Amino acid sequence: MKNKTSKIVILSGAGISAESGLGTFRDKGGLWDEYDINDVATPEAWEKDPELVLDFYNKRRSLVLEAKPNAAHYALVELENHYDVHIITQNIDDLHEKAGSNKIIHLHGEILKAQSVNDPDKQYVLNTSKIQLGDLAPDGHQLRPHVVWFGEAVPRLEDAEELIMNANVLIVIGTSLNVYPAANLIYACTDKCEKYIIDPNELSSVKFKNLIHIKGNATDKIPELVNELIHR
Ligand code: NAD
Repeated sequence: MKNKTSKIVILSGAGISAESGLGTFRDKGGLWDEYDINDVATPEAWEKDPELVLDFYNKRRSLVLEAKPNAAHYALVELENHYDVHIITQNIDDLHEKAGSNKIIHLHGEILKAQSVNDPDKQYVLNTSKIQLGDLAPDGHQLRPHVVWFGEAVPRLEDAEELIMNANVLIVIGTSLNVYPAANLIYACTDKCEKYIIDPNELSSVKFKNLIHIKGNATDKIPELVNELIHR
């Protein structure tokens, strides 16, 4: 199967960046523990207290700016030398880009970018780690993080679905598959598609025919699987 027309699709979540020091949703003691998700990651939260929302994302942005890709991110770059690799990530960090992957869809936005509250379709790369109240987009409206909040539409969902429908191999990494509609994407793949999920924990909610669960951390298991795919 090894050739550049064989399509490998990666669906990554917070777990792939955990070993780069960016906490997952469910980690204890992380930034998420200090805040209630409803207070910082919904349109209602923004209406109620935009300063709190900006503060939360400003703190997360500082952590992302300091974080470095890990062995899992780099192994996926190596895979591109052998296959047509597409990454669909739920992450808002830039670690796939920093590692050097080329074809990346950010389903839930990118924290290093901002958008106007009046127009989600135009994004601005931030040249500072903070967005403050009063920082305006070129259209004269307040800037907010370029992040998809709970209850907002996921703009690249159809592109992601099409990639998965045409995948020869699907590798799901470090996502609890609890956030919808992203979690439903895995069911778009065909019966012929080889399917792996890499996660140290059991994912009881995932009911999937012919799914191979590789139990372990991304930095151990991704390089092993990539090596196997390259040498088959
Ligand atoms: P999640 O926190 O719900 O699930 C993380 C999964 O990763 C869990 O199943 C966990 O067992 C697994 N995991 C933990 N450590 C791992 C490791 N070392 N290797 C492999 N797997 C590991 O995260 P989610 O499913 O991505 O959903 C959370 C939402 O929050 C997403 O929308 C995402 O955008 C956002 N988020 C993003 C970041 C980021 O950008 N780095 C971090 C936290 C949350």
